[in-house]
Amino acid sequence: MERVYNFSPGPSQLALPVLEKAQKDLVCYGDTGMSVMEMSHRSKMYTDIYDQTVADLRDLMNIGEDYEVLFLQGGATQQFSAIPLNLMVNRKADYIDSGNFAHLAAEEGKRYGEVSVVASSREDTYTYVPDVNAIQYHDDADYLHITQNNTIYGTRYVELPKSKAPLVCDASSMILSEEMDVSRYGVIYAGAQKNIGPSGLCLLIVRKDLIGKAMDICPKLLNWEVQAKAGSMYNTPNTWGIYLAGLTFQWLKSIGGVKAIEAVNIEKAKLLYGFLDDSKLFRATAQEKYRSRMNVTFVTGDAEKDAAFVKAAAAEGLVNLKGHRSVGGMRASIYNAMPIEGVQKLVAFMKKFEAANA
Ligand SMILES: *Cc1c(COP(=O)(O)O)cnc(C)c1O
Repeated sequence: MERVYNFSPGPSQLALPVLEKAQKDLVCYGDTGMSVMEMSHRSKMYTDIYDQTVADLRDLMNIGEDYEVLFLQGGATQQFSAIPLNLMVNRKADYIDSGNFAHLAAEEGKRYGEVSVVASSREDTYTYVPDVNAIQYHDDADYLHITQNNTIYGTRYVELPKSKAPLVCDASSMILSEEMDVSRYGVIYAGAQKNIGPSGLCLLIVRKDLIGKAMDICPKLLNWEVQAKAGSMYNTPNTWGIYLAGLTFQWLKSIGGVKAIEAVNIEKAKLLYGFLDDSKLFRATAQEKYRSRMNVTFVTGDAEKDAAFVKAAAAEGLVNLKGHRSVGGMRASIYNAMPIEGVQKLVAFMKKFEAANA
């Protein structure tokens, strides 16, 4: 069977060269005589893979030595708890509520201290990101939490907030899709299943001076200091997931790195939004200024037509275009591994559907 174009929000499409390399090495990795899945995480053959993975990511994102890079488990969601447990020294934090995941992160933060939701677009069904320059931040907050790309609602920050508190960023659905100045953040974390690799892995990039402040009640496994000292291996990590993340980083480097993929991502988004803006049937739902380049949300305005479109698209090998259950409509997730050909094919199909249904 032929591979489809998978527009799933996550787990999402992986780059074909990554899958092919993993397949080639599945049974015997190099001259080790075993699969990566069968290696001890303490063995040199595996720690070599791990070290190369960290080095390649540092290279891709230009991460300074003043930052720790960790590969943890429990997805991005586990960090919703780990963040307050590791950082809430004064039991005070600011959160911007720009979407469902941002909301969940803030709700979890409330279990550990005084959370101020300093801005929210919840009342407007998250169709935009609050204006970061119109917000009153708390200078004494332990951190400010943002979700830089809102996966469900299809919005992204166009500039970063300038608060005194360290910026903690959920970058799950935008990491490695555009250049980020890591030095502007205290913490960047990302569930892997969008732009990094398979699920079950969470990347954490944390400035070293923010490590070592965890509350006494912080579970050892969630304690960044414990994990940093152990090189992400306080217990057995997701060895296979880290290996696939490493293959993704190598693939990204081979095609020119983040700057090169960012240019492709801008082109893909332009193509799709350009069509939506001229369409007589479809329209984009996010406010233009804040449109995501990774998750493109759109509707026809008629739930039956939406469902018919999703079904017909799948029959053409364009799958997982249904919007999140909380918002309906459609969503095309066009992460790094989605080639421009996939978006071209989607737009061509949308034109055809429009001609028959407008
Ligand atoms: C997918 C996603 C999450 C949840 O990630 P898990 O790995 O399932 O915990 C959190 N935040 C954002 C922005 C996401 O896109």
